Order: sequence, then C-alpha cells, then structure tokens
Amino acid sequence: MDLALSDTQQMIQDTARQFADAELLPIAAKIDKTGEFPHGPIKKLADLGFLGMCVPEAWGGAGLDVVSYAIAMEEISRGCASTGVILSVNNSLVCDPIQRYGTDEQKGRFLTALAPGKRLGCFALSEPGSGSDAAGMRTTALRDGDHYVVRGTKNWITNGQEADVCVLICHTNPAERHKGISALVVDRVETPYGIGKVEDKLGIKGSSTTSLVFEDVRVPVANRLGAEGEGFKVAMSTLDGGRIGIAAQALGIARIAFEEALAYSRERSAFGNPIGDFGAIQEMLADMATEIDAARLLIWHAAAAKDAHQKYAKLSAMAKLYASEMAARVCTKALQIHGGYGYVKDYGAERHLRDARITEIYEGTSEIQRLVIARATLQELAPA
Ligand SMILES: Cc1cc2nc3c(=O)[nH]c(=O)nc-3n(C[C@H](O)[C@H](O)[C@H](O)COP(=O)(O)OP(=O)(O)OC[C@H]3O[C@@H](n4cnc5c(N)ncnc54)[C@H](O)[C@@H]3O)c2cc1C
Repeated sequence: MDLALSDTQQMIQDTARQFADAELLPIAAKIDKTGEFPHGPIKKLADLGFLGMCVPEAWGGAGLDVVSYAIAMEEISRGCASTGVILSVNNSLVCDPIQRYGTDEQKGRFLTALAPGKRLGCFALSEPGSGSDAAGMRTTALRDGDHYVVRGTKNWITNGQEADVCVLICHTNPAERHKGISALVVDRVETPYGIGKVEDKLGIKGSSTTSLVFEDVRVPVANRLGAEGEGFKVAMSTLDGGRIGIAAQALGIARIAFEEALAYSRERSAFGNPIGDFGAIQEMLADMATEIDAARLLIWHAAAAKDAHQKYAKLSAMAKLYASEMAARVCTKALQIHGGYGYVKDYGAERHLRDARITEIYEGTSEIQRLVIARATLQELAPA
C-alpha cells in the first residue's frame, strides 16, 4: 500500500497550505468576530480552481480526484473553518449531484458557472421540522404544466444568503415518503425565493446559515435532477460524498488547534519548566497527534474508494464520525493546554472548539453516522 501523494496531490497540498498561511490564518479570528462572509478569499480560491475541484475540466472544473479535494479541505479548514465549509458545500453538495445526475444541458447551464466559482451554490434538504428524518420534509413541488410550484421552508442552509443556485430536495408526490421526493436546481436569479432567518451560531461564523422561503416559486421541470421520485437517492448519495469533505474540515480544525497547543506548550513555563516538559501535557499532545493521523487515514481511505468507484458510504460515515469527534477531543485538549488563556479570545483555542462542534452535527449527526455504519456492517455480515 502506497500512501505517498502523487505530484498533483502534492501540488494541491502545497498550494492550499500556502494559501491558508498567507490568506486565511491572518484573518480567521476577525472573520469569527465580525461574522463576515470571506468574499475575498473565496474569489481567490475560485481562481485557483478550488470551487469545483472534482468537476471535469470540460464543465469548468479542475478535474482533480477526491483525495486532492480532501487534502485541500484539510488545509483550507486549518486556515479558516468558515471558508472550509463554504468550499465544501459548493464542491460536494452542489457541483457533485449536478455532475452525477444532471443532463448535459443542465451541466452547461449550471456546472460551467458553479465549478469555476462564477456562481455559488447551496443545498437545501433540512427543514424546521425534519433534519435526521429527512424524508419527513414538508416542502412540496407540485406539477403545473412545464413547471413545479414550490412551497415550503428549508432551514439551516449553508451559503443561503450568498448562493444564487440551490439544489432543492422536496416532495413532488407528498403521498409517498422517500419515493415521492425529487431534486430540483433552483436558479435564484430567474426564479427568486426568499431568505428567512439568518442564524447566530456558536462557530463557523463567517459562513451564512439561513432559512429559505418558497412561496409558490415556479421552477421549470427542465431543472429536475434525475427522475421524478429519485430525489432522496440524489440527496443521500450526495451526503455520502459530502461527509468526506466535512471529515477533512474537522481534521483541519484539529490540526490548527494541535499546532497552536504544541507551540504554547513550548513557550509557557510553570514551576520553572516549559509546560511541555510535564508528562500530563505530553500525554495530551501524544493522543492528539495520534488521533489526527488516524483520522487522516480514514479520510484518505474513503476518498480513494470514491476515486476507485468502489463502495464508500460506510467509509465516509466512519471518516466523518471519527474525524468530527476527534476534532472535538483535540480542541478540548488544546484549550486545556492553554489553561486560562484557552478560555479567552486572545488565543484561537476557544474558537477552534466552537468551530469543531458543528462537524458532529451537519451532513448527518454522529448518531446517524453510527446508524449508517451499523447497517452497512450488519449487511456485510448477513449470509448471502
Ligand atoms: C450550521 C449548520 C449548517 C447546516 N447546513 C445545512 C445545509 O447546508 N443544508 C441542509 O440541508 N442542512 C443543513 N444543516 C442541517 C443539519 O444537517 C441538521 O441540523 C442535522 O442533520 C440534524 O438535524 P436536526 O437539527 O433536525 O436534529 P434532529 O434530527 O432533530 O436530531 C436531534 C437529536 O436526535 C438525534 N437523533 C435523531 N434521529 C435519531 C435516530 N434515528 N437515532 C439516534 N439518534 C437520533 C440526533 O442525532 C440529535 O442528537 C445545517 C445545520 C447547522 C447547524
């Protein structure tokens, strides 16, 4: 087994790391404080091809593999967790389903603008009354000639405020549960919808999280992704891939928390010694370093399986479950190593912990990842 990066993957890692060092780390605390969307960095990342990394060049993307995407997500999220999630939504939750389920005509209309970052996308599945139980959604898109008339409210939508293309998952046949769900691409410029509540969050404050309000919005039937009734499959398979990106986001957050704790353990003295000389601190650092590497191996395994067109739903759920819970543990330890200084905003430790927590919730909570893993494992064990 060869874990060495290819020349291209190495180049992506170097580019993303340099970008994070130069463009993100210096402003990440300010983004957290002001809650401002990082328009400047996102524009530059678009120019680098990071908004549609796995989209073929013919459709405006960078034509890279999923491992490269995971590497980029780790590095960018190390620099700024908000920028990381903005990137992951456009790549994993918007470009990916349009690429996999879209017709050439839809790819020409949407992907060629989304992949190079000329437009930004969002993915709308969750609702006020349904998150984990996604099929319990209430939003409907009822057929009227060549259009669907969309009515309902989506909740918690990342990029909701800035995005002008929305991959919307909704009921086209409310009498059915999963089988009555379809996926539509809604062009906010052509068919405007409303932006509702803007959430005030614990972390990832530079990314907007809003509700989207559809009041009889007429969406052309030509904008449907896949067949009518195939939307639940579109959504779930999209999240299978998305989890690789979120796992890498968690890994990047853990890494910056670890790096800062390591530096602090060398510079802070107590009882006449750097605190890094104490066994208790060393144990924490050792656990943090080990868990960070373990998470990366799970993420690369899932990404490589997706690249090889192998089954990867269980692997991506395992990567997200482990990496997100690992990030919370690592960030808690990093805060502890900073002592009182970890609890105040002079250092990044408290921000990293706040940023890390969301990775255990979105794109399926840890409880849902365990369900996915358990079901897949039980299926593998079932007699043929
Ligand atoms: C900042 C942020 C950004 C988000 N971005 C997006 C986005 O861009 N697009 C989008 O569609 N959604 C988005 N979400 C929504 C997110 O995916 C959901 O919040 C998440 O799936 C959980 O759903 P819920 O909040 O309704 O919690 P619930 O589903 O109500 O869950 C509540 C608790 O019950 C547990 N639970 C539920 N069902 C089970 C079960 N069967 N077994 C065991 N435990 C269970 C959960 O794990 C959780 O602990 C975002 C959320 C946040 C906070």
